[in-house]
Amino acid sequence: KIKLRLENRSLDHLRAPVICVLGHVDTGKTKLLDKLRCTNVQKSEAGGITQQIGATNVPIDVLRELTKIVRPPKGSQPFKIKIPGLLIIDTPGHEHFRLMRSRGSSLCDLAILVVDIMHGVEPQTIESIKLLQDRGTPFIVALNKIDRLFEWQSNPKKDFWDLLKMQKDHTKVEFEHRLSSAKLQLSEQGLNTKMYYEYSDPKEYSWIVPTSAITGDGIANLIATVVKYNQEIQPEKITFSEELEATVLEVKQTIGHGITIDVILKNGSLKIGDTIVLPGSKGRPIVTQIRALLLPKPNRELRIKTEYAEPKNIKGCQGVKIVAKGLKSAIAGSSFLVARCQNEIEILKDLSQEKEILGCIQCEKRGVYVQGSLLGSLEALLELLKQDKIPYSNVRLGNVIKSDVVKASIMLEHDPKFACILALDVEVERDAQEYADAKGVRIFKEDTVYRLFDSFKKHIQNHQKKKREEFKNIAVFPCMLSILPQHIYRKSNPIIVGVRVDAGVVKIGTPLCVMSKDSFIQIGIVADIQKNEKTIPIGKKGDEICLKIENVSDDAPKMMGHHFDADDIIMSSISRQSIDACKEHFRSELKNEDWKLIILLKKIFGIL
Ligand code: GDP
Repeated sequence: KIKLRLENRSLDHLRAPVICVLGHVDTGKTKLLDKLRCTNVQKSEAGGITQQIGATNVPIDVLRELTKIVRPPKGSQPFKIKIPGLLIIDTPGHEHFRLMRSRGSSLCDLAILVVDIMHGVEPQTIESIKLLQDRGTPFIVALNKIDRLFEWQSNPKKDFWDLLKMQKDHTKVEFEHRLSSAKLQLSEQGLNTKMYYEYSDPKEYSWIVPTSAITGDGIANLIATVVKYNQEIQPEKITFSEELEATVLEVKQTIGHGITIDVILKNGSLKIGDTIVLPGSKGRPIVTQIRALLLPKPNRELRIKTEYAEPKNIKGCQGVKIVAKGLKSAIAGSSFLVARCQNEIEILKDLSQEKEILGCIQCEKRGVYVQGSLLGSLEALLELLKQDKIPYSNVRLGNVIKSDVVKASIMLEHDPKFACILALDVEVERDAQEYADAKGVRIFKEDTVYRLFDSFKKHIQNHQKKKREEFKNIAVFPCMLSILPQHIYRKSNPIIVGVRVDAGVVKIGTPLCVMSKDSFIQIGIVADIQKNEKTIPIGKKGDEICLKIENVSDDAPKMMGHHFDADDIIMSSISRQSIDACKEHFRSELKNEDWKLIILLKKIFGIL
């Protein structure tokens, strides 16, 4: 066993927390990131903002400068920054969260959830909240675009509280109104919120900071709140630890260096020559040595041969590009380990592959075969499938090869509609395609999640339509009818009679029977349904309708008044086969109460 490298964590040694921005499209995430990275702050040589790999580092001096206008609440000490800076992930959006291999592991220490004050909660706001809650990532809500409130007076040099007080009465009223409606909408999502200056218990309340990413109003308060949250609410989480914590953000080609990985090194340190062990997409872990660590050069003038500085070692928390051999099958979103000695390599290999999320994805025994190039987008696809209750039996990274088709073809026996491979942004090898064509396995190949999902869904819908047509006469919808004695028009073949639908649904084609003493008498199938003298395809619970019932069996037609009476109950004649057909092809058309009726009829008919 590996001895845990226990280290002295100290609250005096905080690292820069990692911050992500997410929220609905067009709420201003990109603009907000620009503002947070404050492209307009003078860049002093020493303490300036530095661009890193995949992230921007905003150091303490800049944070001080940016938050100096923030007024401490009455009676409290002036705000003092204890963290060395913020590491803000450059690209906004969900992907970073989806990327994270296992639930509960999050690259981000704190997220900023952007909500447009004019629009309130939108679909991706809800999605983001779920994602954050799933990952256990705390977040602050930036209620953005306050400058769009009617006659808002902007002044980014003022603390938000003072700025709000300065506004005209009707602007304040509009602000309060929109704030409380956003809060209400968030509470409908199970989220309690309070304004940041109330400093309510963050376990119960998420904090809201109103901002404008365009004018800069509220940005100082947002930054101050992010800093405060990290250093006061979760200092333990952001104490620097020697234990390596590094996440692969992207696997990509870097000119002159081959395939490299962009990594956020949160804790611990890395140096040239370190042996790193990381999960590989081919099911085999990668063991390789760091050849170079690349950081963007701070000073552009030094750009002679390359854009990168190449330090010998680096320490968390920062973004870095790692150059090493064999990184082609590295997986974005995975974390990696460093082997300190030869003996550790084997153990770490197992450990690293075990952490591989593919192992965590729960597959069904029966379902479609899913393949993709990137875990982030694959997980997005799996989520869509889940929402639509489409089972998947296998999930793999990499191109579609013949053995994939062989595995997928097993579904031909069980459920042919799922004998499919959903290939997301990967190649299909020629012999794989040929084998699929020969066997009848469908391969859906697209570059984007939505396109792929759509084309697969169309296939499922077509399949469903065909099957419904095929099984229309086998699937019997359940119904119970009572005869209206004043409306008996014909007593035998065809029987024409007025009935009330007491439960279920009756359709043209439904076989009917009555229970008389101990036996069931088949009286025929529904040949026509009329309501107010017009033919209708279906009668529903509560309807009073006129039925034409035709005898289709070889037996002699049954007669009302002779074989059965007007006060007998008529019901659909169901069978095991018809129940199965309903379950298989018409599940969505039957309501809960219809299923209950099927269960009742099953008992009446003694179907096992
Ligand atoms: P994203 O899709 O969330 O990244 O949104 P963007 O940052 O691209 O912004 C979407 C649009 O909203 C752009 O036209 C921005 O100029 C605008 N926008 C963003 N933030 C603000 C804001 O605070 N106030 C106003 N008035 N417009 C904003």
